[in-house]
Amino acid sequence: MVRTYHYRIKDSSVAPQLTPLARAVNQVWNFCNESQEHALRWNQRWPTGFDLQKLTAGCSQELGLHAQTVQAVCEEYATRRKHAKKRKLRWRGKRALGWIPFKAAGVKVIDDTVTYAGHTFRFWKSRAIPGTIKMGNFAQDARGRWYVNFVCEVADEAPTTGTKQIGIDLGLKTLATCSDGRKIEAPRWYRHQQRRIAEHQRKKRSRQAKNLHARIANRRKDFLHKASDRLTKECELIVVGDVGSARLAKTNMAKSVNDAGWAMFRHLLEYKAMARKVVYREVSERFSTQTCSDCGAIGGPKGREGLGIREWVCGECGAIHDRDVNAAMNILRMGHHTLALK
Ligand SMILES: [Zn+2]
Repeated sequence: MVRTYHYRIKDSSVAPQLTPLARAVNQVWNFCNESQEHALRWNQRWPTGFDLQKLTAGCSQELGLHAQTVQAVCEEYATRRKHAKKRKLRWRGKRALGWIPFKAAGVKVIDDTVTYAGHTFRFWKSRAIPGTIKMGNFAQDARGRWYVNFVCEVADEAPTTGTKQIGIDLGLKTLATCSDGRKIEAPRWYRHQQRRIAEHQRKKRSRQAKNLHARIANRRKDFLHKASDRLTKECELIVVGDVGSARLAKTNMAKSVNDAGWAMFRHLLEYKAMARKVVYREVSERFSTQTCSDCGAIGGPKGREGLGIREWVCGECGAIHDRDVNAAMNILRMGHHTLALK
């Protein structure tokens, strides 16, 4: 199994070296961005990472980068361009956050130091590096802090012993509602802090705003890690609705605190489920709110007006439903259905 571990680089050892290296990486990136359109014209196909590597061959020495870093940038560029389905990606200029990828052979790690292209950096070794390093990168966050990330091959996780089967409805008001009635609320803390960020921005205190942003992001990540950990340990099946930003766009609630949380929560659930051998499915959440989970009649709250309705009674069978729990139960049922089809 592959995992990434982050370590903060000591500020005192960062200063003059990493920035020019990051600029060199940007140069390679921008070169890829520029030259691939020509390549497309000549070859009648998008250049692969390998094609780009041929075009950039030999430039590493001049740029002061490890040759494999140049290769890694080319590969990453080709993958990202393909995913984005665009002719061109964004230019990496001075304001782009620093990023320097490397492969295992490009770095030497001894105790709390990492040596790259002749430079040695010290990092806060907050935990031992487990397993063997496959690759990694140096990366900068919005606050200008540098981290070294190691992608390691580690021993497989023990499979789940949980027996629960759970459907999850992701929502605007409650982050996630489970079919067993549990509700996972995003801490109220976010909203409060967001008000403070807005205030900092209004008064043009951008550093404080950035710091708060970073703290919120960290807390959110930590919270979502714990919630997804718990669920994947106690379940053998997890089914999640495929709610997307399309639903948000219709509701004027695009800035919901849960917004950014959904994608990450699903991502965490999915990879933890995979590691623990939990069956994970995403199903269409269409009609999940409107359908009665007891009798299957469609009569529940609908659309924008329906968002305010938290509880409803089924006109067919008289069952009383909590809107979100009912949706989660329908999502679980749909998960069972898709599994049965296979
Ligand atoms: Zn009913």
